[in-house]
Amino acid sequence: MKSYHNSIHAHERAKKVMPGGVSSPVRTYESVGHPAVYMDEGKGSRIKDIDGNEYIDYVMSWGPLLLGHANDHVVDSLKIVAEKGTSFGASHVTEAGLAELVVDRVPSIEVVRMVNSGTEATMSALRLARGFTGRDKIVKMEGCYHGHGDSLLIRAGSGVATLGLPDSPGVPGSIAQNTLTVPYNDLDSLQKAFDEYGDEIAGVILEPVTGNMGVVTPGEGFLEGVRDITNQYGSLLIFDEVMSGFRVDYNSAQGHYGVTPDLTCLGKVIGGGLPVGAYGGRADIMQQIAPDGPIYQAGTLSGNPLAMTAGLETLRQVDESSYETFRARAAHLEEGLNRAASKHGIPHQINRAGAMIGLFFTDEPVVDFASAKKSDLGMFARYFRGMMAEGISLPPSQFEGLFLSTEHSEEDIDKTIEAADRVFASLAAN
Ligand code: PMP
Repeated sequence: MKSYHNSIHAHERAKKVMPGGVSSPVRTYESVGHPAVYMDEGKGSRIKDIDGNEYIDYVMSWGPLLLGHANDHVVDSLKIVAEKGTSFGASHVTEAGLAELVVDRVPSIEVVRMVNSGTEATMSALRLARGFTGRDKIVKMEGCYHGHGDSLLIRAGSGVATLGLPDSPGVPGSIAQNTLTVPYNDLDSLQKAFDEYGDEIAGVILEPVTGNMGVVTPGEGFLEGVRDITNQYGSLLIFDEVMSGFRVDYNSAQGHYGVTPDLTCLGKVIGGGLPVGAYGGRADIMQQIAPDGPIYQAGTLSGNPLAMTAGLETLRQVDESSYETFRARAAHLEEGLNRAASKHGIPHQINRAGAMIGLFFTDEPVVDFASAKKSDLGMFARYFRGMMAEGISLPPSQFEGLFLSTEHSEEDIDKTIEAADRVFASLAAN
């Protein structure tokens, strides 16, 4: 049995001075009935907590660590940059270096603005879409998460093509009313929303591969259909690639599926583990942003030298072959988990895209939020605790995917499958 003595003590202390003792709610591990785990250090695919327990880590800081923990080259570059100063509030050459790389690799991005988080990227992209089109309404898809901005923290109203409702106290109803919510992978519902409100819709925002209802991939023709409908009504298409960007493929999900949005939001991987977001797209739209245009958006720490360096030195270390390896490792993990779950009669579905893979405890294919919600959450919680006890750190939610890094070896994957086999056996026995 692992001891969590130090983590439990640290969390008790933090709870006195921080809401839930955490800086982001999921870190309490409450929904899976596990103590919050305080991490101490990571290297490659491994992470160690403050009680000395070691894990193969599939959280990877919720996606950013494409090269695993504490990549030597990233860390060495950060040391050099930090010694020269951590922030200037003035331009420096590395931010344009990262911008050039992003423009080069992401098909839709001709011009990009750096911000500090994924939330900032999506909030800013919405303002831009509204300012550019002169329209107020936004369409989002059920089960997609775009950070905690007011316009996007919205749940569906009853029925298709109805106006949204606040998903949190503090989000004004008047703002929620400007967000329409439709199911993912459902072009008919999107068409209905446009039939009713087409001329008022500034843009449609979606994750081209979702990571926030677990991993759900776009069905055949779905992204193309969304592109056609938005073109038809003069609305902007916004891909939120905060999670899928540089993770699903070398040219991100949009390169992989060959569908080019008007605007793209990025985060996570482009900061290599430091706080970064970005939004970019067609030059004529981006030119509406201050100082080129009238739409305001700014940031004290935006384009921070340390964050830009971590992102640039991370992305320089991957090439197209890295994504071949990700796909091969994810396929290996899928095949092993499938085999082990089937052997023990555990209902399951696995979806994957590039270096993201998700296991759902349900018999039915998972294509949208409704089907994802059919998963057995009690079984997930027991699976999670069993895997932690085996030394495998997973995201503590059924509605999140696993993230691979270049440092996850074949041996790591084999160990993970062997651990899952033992955990499935105990789930089947109880
Ligand atoms: N968009 C997507 C697709 C995300 O996955 C996330 C975070 N998980 C966000 C936006 C928000 O990013 P951040 O937490 O950096 O604000």
